Amino acid sequence: MLKPLANAIIRYVSNSSPWLRGLAKRIFKSKWLLQNRYYQNYVLREATHIDDTVADRIPALSIETILTCNARCIMCVHGEQPMIGTMSDEVFYSIVDQAADLGIKYVGLSIYGEPFADKNFLERVKYVRRKGMTYSLFSNGSLFRMEKLKEMLALGGFEFINFSVNGFSTEVYEKVMPPLNRERVYGNINDFLDLCDDYPGNKPFVRISSVELEENKAELGEFAKYWESRKNVDHVLIADEGDWLGELTEREAAADKTRGVKKGYWLSPCPSIWTALYVYYDGRVSPCCEDAASRKLVIGDCTKDTLRDIWVAEPLQRLRGLHRDNHRADHDICSKCHWNQPWSVS
Ligand code: SF4
Repeated sequence: MLKPLANAIIRYVSNSSPWLRGLAKRIFKSKWLLQNRYYQNYVLREATHIDDTVADRIPALSIETILTCNARCIMCVHGEQPMIGTMSDEVFYSIVDQAADLGIKYVGLSIYGEPFADKNFLERVKYVRRKGMTYSLFSNGSLFRMEKLKEMLALGGFEFINFSVNGFSTEVYEKVMPPLNRERVYGNINDFLDLCDDYPGNKPFVRISSVELEENKAELGEFAKYWESRKNVDHVLIADEGDWLGELTEREAAADKTRGVKKGYWLSPCPSIWTALYVYYDGRVSPCCEDAASRKLVIGDCTKDTLRDIWVAEPLQRLRGLHRDNHRADHDICSKCHWNQPWSVS
């Protein structure tokens, strides 16, 4: 009775006004909630339950087809250091084959790079479709070729796309996402939204997101209003800034200004380690996207072991045990992570 109610509240709040979402975030990070032992016990019970029932099945898989990005956003590690790499066909096809054999129905095709910077991206999408899987991706929208997008929409299985658009005015957009051109990107995304009309049954869920920054926060209201009024946009997300496990060094991302919890507050077990695998372009595997810039939380290597073996092997089991037993603060990486990922209520 309580779980369906909590699920309904979570769904309602995540689709509600920015004000209500902001309030929910403040409550979620508050001392009042995080230091409450009933709340802590509830989350620890959920972690024990998921740990007891975790099976061979991998619920979610993301594959980094390319790490390279053509933007140098100020809140991204690409803006501070070279991050370059493309997944080889051999590794990609092997992972997709394994995913299909494991019964995985849906894959993310991007992690920390711009998928359209990969010249083979369409071929990879075709392979995923041939294996009967659907897919999602995150893009900055700057490298679109309408012919490729038409093929992707015609193929079906294009379930979700997030456009990362971190500014509304030309001045702010181009300051936050150099060297991208605001007019070109807004034009590309609007062209894509128009194109979706031609593929009504195959239109992906379209989300437009911006990270809230000092540089853009004054215009986020206008940003949200603009995108919410566009046809074929399903959701506009304003996300909190993060420090990518401390990898982002040139920006002061104070914990209480970010999605992070304040120092000293309870660090909850992290659902990601029971629910997802992220395969980097070179085959290394992590259990969470927060690690995507620093790449320190590596629990396996797809060029040496199978996805299934990595999912059940000792490094991930050990990490799960620490979190389940309320010892996340003793882990050298997870203790430095400011993020308490929300638990979906299953
Ligand atoms: S606590 Fe942070 S670093 Fe550790 S698995 Fe969760 S998101 Fe990743």
